[in-house]
Amino acid sequence: MGQIRILPPALVSRIAAGECIERPASVVKELVENALDAGARQIDIAVEDGGRGLIRVADDGVGMDPEDLALSVRQHATSKLRSADDLFGIQTLGFRGEALASIGAVARLRIVSRRRDSEVAYELCVEGGTETPPRPCHGPPGTTVEVRDLFFAVPARRKFLRTNQTESGHITEQLARIALAQPGVGFTLRVQDRLVHRLPPTADLRQRIADFYGPELAGPLLPIERSGTDVQVTGLVAPPSESRGSGKWEYVFVNGRYVRDRFVSHAIKEAYRSLIDPARFPVVFLFITIDPAAVDVNVHPTKIEVRWRDSNYVHGQVLAALRDKFLTSRLDHPLRAPRDDAEHRDRVRQAMVAFFSQAGARSGPGPARAPAGVAPDAVTGPSAAATAGLDPQTPEIPAPRAAGVSASEAARPVPPAQPPREPAAGAAATSATAAPAAASYAPPLRAIQIHNAYLVVETDDGLAIIDQHALHERILYEELRQRLETHRLAAQRLLIPPVVRVPADRLEALELHAETLAHLGLELAAAGPNSVALHAVPTVLLARVDPEQFVRDLLDRLAEHAAHPRPDTLLHELLDMLACKAAVKAGDPLTPEEIAALLARRTTAERSSHCPHGRPTTLRLTLRDLERQFQRR
Ligand code: ADP
Ligand code: MG
Repeated sequence: MGQIRILPPALVSRIAAGECIERPASVVKELVENALDAGARQIDIAVEDGGRGLIRVADDGVGMDPEDLALSVRQHATSKLRSADDLFGIQTLGFRGEALASIGAVARLRIVSRRRDSEVAYELCVEGGTETPPRPCHGPPGTTVEVRDLFFAVPARRKFLRTNQTESGHITEQLARIALAQPGVGFTLRVQDRLVHRLPPTADLRQRIADFYGPELAGPLLPIERSGTDVQVTGLVAPPSESRGSGKWEYVFVNGRYVRDRFVSHAIKEAYRSLIDPARFPVVFLFITIDPAAVDVNVHPTKIEVRWRDSNYVHGQVLAALRDKFLTSRLDHPLRAPRDDAEHRDRVRQAMVAFFSQAGARSGPGPARAPAGVAPDAVTGPSAAATAGLDPQTPEIPAPRAAGVSASEAARPVPPAQPPREPAAGAAATSATAAPAAASYAPPLRAIQIHNAYLVVETDDGLAIIDQHALHERILYEELRQRLETHRLAAQRLLIPPVVRVPADRLEALELHAETLAHLGLELAAAGPNSVALHAVPTVLLARVDPEQFVRDLLDRLAEHAAHPRPDTLLHELLDMLACKAAVKAGDPLTPEEIAALLARRTTAERSSHCPHGRPTTLRLTLRDLERQFQRR
């Protein structure tokens, strides 16, 4: 007896704050939603110290009179619900009446508000749950809320906050989730007094996306539109060729509210299935409009989850909306078509040359070409001296190593990097015609490329069919791994570092893993709150790297890694990624020399007939198999 007590209101608020105010970004969410509910057309956000020091949200909405102002910070005080019935037809973003009370319980809160029809503004302050009565002051129509020293009253929670950059990244993401749903409202975001986002009001969702993420992302998006009986699905979605390495790019809004919903996610995944690599994710901005009575938004403190009255119906509508679009659109990969042109062949050659110069790096400079934009100096690897060695106009596979091969070099169990000069492939090639130097390392093989994707090779006892990408990837992986045991990978500094826009919350990982990245010959640096400059790449990647795609994929990998941090796996994963990106692709035509070169390196990777992803590189058929198939015996 006498053990149970009713908690004092200040403590109740503090407990409630734990639910809806998890970090600075949650404060931004609540304040911006309040501004929208108040009919604001322009909302200006300022953040300092990742939101720990200050969050200020200023709006030009209806404002509050002193009586409402005093009530606004009380628990369960809201102007948005009147009766329990209202809960089943919620039209506003807020309704629980706990955000301001919660914030007041864990931070220093100051609100200045002036109704549009009033001459005077009123100010109210709350500190540690204790408020001052409203008093008149100067201020523009609308409401400005300032939150300082977040969690000063809850040190335990303060400890859970991450770096300023990470917290600012969460805030940016929060802004995206709100601003994408409200293109008609103007937003600005200032971080440490620097303007990070300016989103002018627009009627056009694509424009809003372009303003936030850049025109490269917005441009290719396909419009979606479907109206069911009481569900409408609209939005913009990327064609499958524009997939990403992270699931973050799935933006789903239900009646204007950002949500995560497994039924909708499943429908999206289903629609893209077989159109994109299962390990990649689509870019989707999807808006579901539904009778508020058919969806319960009151199932989660931050309202990020919903409960459908008929989830199957919603699933079906989303799936149909996307599927119809994909069925009626031309979805060819824009880069796939001109596979046979000279420029492309040139790039493939460069890739091969870069590959061999990398492979030969142990023993000294190997030939490598520097594409335009590459500084010939300031390299950490051997290819600077090598850039002079090759005429850029006539890229050539390097000649076989001449007589001066060192003893240690000759003793290496693996064949040298250089391919034999004689085309060892094709009908004319026999063991008699192959250059002796090459023959001593790799027996000449009859091989042809089919469908620009597979090599069919005659073997001692039959034939082998080789997946050119898988094999090259495997070879590169082994080469790079061996080299990493003793060296850093050779890097090439880029004269004009490409700058890539990325979500701000991805930047922290760069600093965290800078050492690992440097080891791999990668140098990236933040070039603003939302962009990364690529300063150096491993030489193996030079010919192939599409900086945009590369940086995005890299950051996605790092972010995913952060979720399951195991130091040994990161290097492996990144190597994997480098090898995959540097390798020739299915669709790349190869010259006989290139085929020979690839096959000559095969022994490096021979010990494993699988590419790093676990797929086989080679299928074999023996003469006996053939005889059996042809019923010769
Ligand atoms: P809720 O949004 O769930 O109602 P809040 O604690 O966020 O609860 O806000 C309490 C009340 O304060 C709101 O219902 C609204 O009447 C008022 N209010 C809060 N922010 C603003 C604002 N920016 N402009 C006008 N009124 C506001
Ligand atoms: Mg609210």
